[in-house]
Amino acid sequence: MAKKIKMLTPLVEIDGDEMTRIIWKMIKDILLTPYIELKTEYYDLGLECRDKTEDKVTEESALAIKKYGVGVKCATITANADRVKEYNLKQMWKSPNGTIRAILDGTVFRTPIIVDSIKPFVKTWRKPITIARHAYGDIYRNVEYRVKGKGKAELVFTSDFGEVSSQTIHAFDGPGVIQGMHNLDHSIQSFARACFNYALDQKQDLWFSTKDTISKDYDHTFKDLFQEIYDNEYKDKFAAAKIEYFYTLIDDVVARVMRSEGGMIWACKNYDGDVMSDMVASAFGSLAMMTSVLVSPEGYYEYEAAHGTVQRHYYKHLKGEETSTNSMATLFAWTGALKKRGELDGIKALIDFAHKLEKASIQTIEEGVITKDLEDLSEVKHKRIVSTENFLREVNERLVAML
Ligand code: NAP
Ligand code: MG
Repeated sequence: MAKKIKMLTPLVEIDGDEMTRIIWKMIKDILLTPYIELKTEYYDLGLECRDKTEDKVTEESALAIKKYGVGVKCATITANADRVKEYNLKQMWKSPNGTIRAILDGTVFRTPIIVDSIKPFVKTWRKPITIARHAYGDIYRNVEYRVKGKGKAELVFTSDFGEVSSQTIHAFDGPGVIQGMHNLDHSIQSFARACFNYALDQKQDLWFSTKDTISKDYDHTFKDLFQEIYDNEYKDKFAAAKIEYFYTLIDDVVARVMRSEGGMIWACKNYDGDVMSDMVASAFGSLAMMTSVLVSPEGYYEYEAAHGTVQRHYYKHLKGEETSTNSMATLFAWTGALKKRGELDGIKALIDFAHKLEKASIQTIEEGVITKDLEDLSEVKHKRIVSTENFLREVNERLVAML
């Protein structure tokens, strides 16, 4: 056997929970450590360890990504009341993804893995569509009020110097609802830079949409800040890379995306991104085939799967039953991170290996060897449904043939 590939800088390895934690180890054992002298700095974000460390480990993992530049993360449980009981937690710890995102000030890019035998529901789509979702503010940090009867709602801002601006929202004759929300120039600018950098990195066009015709100050600020940063910092780089940036209204962009062949990055405000990424994922086939990468404006990368810990499958696994869980998105998180590490450290062998591993896994699905979730989606005639572990062994057989 050929010598194992050596790494220079450690990859920040962030372990997680339930079925994806099982898959994590299988991927390493079957597909990575036989070929790479894997150099990682390991953080255990499994719920038990988060609880034991008072969630310090989550913060430490994010700081490690800042230190080394690249991380790969397993899906993790976001604690809720049920989980507090199930794991006997000291408290309901915050979402690890939220904590990491806040520390890296990052934007999340979600891209489907495309295979020929799984046709998107939209006939014209041939290339993946990446959704870039702003991860701060708007309705996710809103203040709401249920109006019970007659009265006047006002929008009041008091500056630190005591200047007061006040506008009537509505004079209510009867019951209704009010909501206040905000965003920050700093956060919007970070979002814009993350999108422009990612478009250059991927050599793909960037589309950005809001509803500035209706929201003449709020959404218009997003549009203006993007344009200003583009004109001042990115225009020439985009021209050199032969890619395009354009802004258009959200309803216009929806129509364009539907008629397109895909292959672009679509930047969305927080709520639009939440909704549109689920639509794009479903239209391409399956959540289990959706990859996700968090990119900070400084150029730190954290790769992960878009799906959760696949809890139901894990309980089957615990009962000793065989599972058929799709490992593609978690596998692509690893290949994405290895490629990026290879790029940054100039290790061609690592980049080549990651490409081959992706090719081998796609080939496996194209040949009809699939996990249960793809049974109804795959158009291959002779399908063979395999277990979680056997899928990875089948990928390995094809990988060996390529190496
Ligand atoms: P989920 O784990 O994504 O699973 C939802 C359902 O989608 C599964 O029950 C399964 O359907 C199907 N599915 C998802 N991934 C699959 C895969 N790889 N292979 C096959 N089928 C797959 O979402 P959830 O059940 O809402 O959440 C479970 C836990 O994950 C929660 O504790 C949540 O906090 C956490 N979560 C974490 C992240 C993250 O870390 N990024 C993201 C989302 C959720 P069937 O059961 O019908 O087969
Ligand atoms: Mg959502």
